[in-house]
Amino acid sequence: MKVAFIGLGVMGYPMAGHLANAGHDVTVYNRTTAKADKWCQEYKGARAITPAEAARNAEIVFSCVGNDDDLRQVVTGTQGVFSSMAQGATLVDHTTASAEVARELAVIAADKGLCFLDAPVSGGQAGAENGVLSIMIGGDEAVFDKAAPVIDCYAKSAKLLGPAGSGQLAKMVNQICIAGLVQGLAEGVHFAKQAGLDAAAVFDVIQHGAAGSWQMINRHQTMIDEQFDFGFAVDWMRKDLKITLDEARSNGAQLPVTALVDQFYAEVQKMGGNRWDTSSLVKRLDS
Ligand code: NAP
Repeated sequence: MKVAFIGLGVMGYPMAGHLANAGHDVTVYNRTTAKADKWCQEYKGARAITPAEAARNAEIVFSCVGNDDDLRQVVTGTQGVFSSMAQGATLVDHTTASAEVARELAVIAADKGLCFLDAPVSGGQAGAENGVLSIMIGGDEAVFDKAAPVIDCYAKSAKLLGPAGSGQLAKMVNQICIAGLVQGLAEGVHFAKQAGLDAAAVFDVIQHGAAGSWQMINRHQTMIDEQFDFGFAVDWMRKDLKITLDEARSNGAQLPVTALVDQFYAEVQKMGGNRWDTSSLVKRLDS
């Protein structure tokens, strides 16, 4: 299939690579052109100098940029993909953004005879590189059915969860679950150290019991060792929690722990931890 990929960051670069490796005809666009040049040396594909140019003639256009404003720029800006996409083509957006911008883009797409899926991902850099992302999707079923086999190039699971915006809302659920869980894990690591226990030995045992989680299995040792360079950055988490807390204000959900952990992450940022990974919550307690 002829496809385009907009945004070759930590996530987009390997995702676009999986599309090329699967034999799709890929054209990439990245704002910083050096990354697009590097991608073209590593994979079979072309590069364009604007999002619009990349998207022209593509059956599916993928995007994975930073936030709502970035997304609006590459989609509805003067050189955005909506200015050139062919009738009936689909934009699949993998950015973690608000449900509001997803609904907004779905309406604009429909007006232009285009299709739109909001499709934020979970699984981090490793999930993108290994092609095993979990993908939460909002949009129409017929559009999903057509895009799903292509999305499968880098997904372990991809599920349609409802109309436009549902993918972003599901990603908020994911971040709510992670926030409270990582704070609990941080307190466990902190307590084990304070109690004079061999923390590594403790987590070796309890990770197999009722407290076990992906975070515990994959992060307890790095938290004990105070290594915070393992993926999703605190700045990104605060962006996601802001979107989530804004959404909760409008739908009436009560998120007291999520709001508190958001403030803890603000403290981590003040400690210089903007680019530390999300498990750095423990650093607040240990320092
Ligand atoms: P990243 O490495 O910072 O890459 C962001 C990409 O977006 C870059 O290609 C950047 O271009 C491009 N971009 C940003 N603003 C732009 C603009 N205004 N116009 C054009 N291009 C723009 O970020 P990432 O880690 O790949 O994350 C991308 C998205 O996935 C975010 O929404 C993030 O929350 C989400 N996500 C990330 C992870 C993770 O573990 N990293 C996990 C799940 C979800 P330049 O190269 O020119 O800067």
